[in-house]
Amino acid sequence: PTLRIDVVSIFPEYLTPLRAALLGRAIDRGIISVDVHDLRDWTHDVHRGVDDSPYGGGPGMVMKPEVWGPCLDDVCPDDALLVVPTPAGVPFTQSMAEDLSRERHLVFACGRYEGIDQRVVDDAATRTRVLEVSIGDFVLIGGEVATIAMVEATVRLIDGVLGNAASHQQDSFSDGLLEGPSYTRPEVWRGLAVPAVLRSGDHAKIEKWRHEESLQRTRSRRPDLLPADEPGQPD
Ligand code: SAM
Repeated sequence: PTLRIDVVSIFPEYLTPLRAALLGRAIDRGIISVDVHDLRDWTHDVHRGVDDSPYGGGPGMVMKPEVWGPCLDDVCPDDALLVVPTPAGVPFTQSMAEDLSRERHLVFACGRYEGIDQRVVDDAATRTRVLEVSIGDFVLIGGEVATIAMVEATVRLIDGVLGNAASHQQDSFSDGLLEGPSYTRPEVWRGLAVPAVLRSGDHAKIEKWRHEESLQRTRSRRPDLLPADEPGQPD
């Protein structure tokens, strides 16, 4: 495959969407491979425990290094990129998805509870590249949904995965702005008409209109994305 993906989780069944729809088709066509591993396979006690109480006190549990360490030794070779989802990570962006889509082998380590003992990441970083990444300023229950989001964003950029390669070149963020509204038939629906310019057949005019809509939407929803010389940029 062009890209090999391994995911470690204590809820492997949470990751079944990775085999559905376009991702499933990319697997069937040999463009990507996806292997999901159950972290508990690396436990040695009868209870198959993966967590313990935190040093320093406080609520919640922390995932144990003696389980994660040997698991990553087996699943994450030195030339893979280890991605660790965490709300305390650097923000995941479209440009990071583009970087990930050029890798050969990604390993995702899904935390639960209060996360993974930091030494697991520090130890892995002595032999392989590690990215601690957040998918947004909110807290999920586990890393599985964050992993699915990052895998989707990454895999759709690989050649041959989308039916139409041009479609991702026009998406939001690809030119730094949000994409404007889209319309399909019928021309009038519940009394709402499709903007006349889109039915004009004048491609230059349509392009200009789309760019203006894109700017206006970005200005009102995400002024932080506007280039520095654009009006509406926050101070
Ligand atoms: N104690 C952690 C903190 O405050 O930074 C929160 C841990 S969270 C309850 C449990 C797991 O969910 C994390 O280890 C991570 O795998 C995942 N997670 C939660 N929010 C996330 C986000 N915004 N981005 C990526 N992963 C997230």
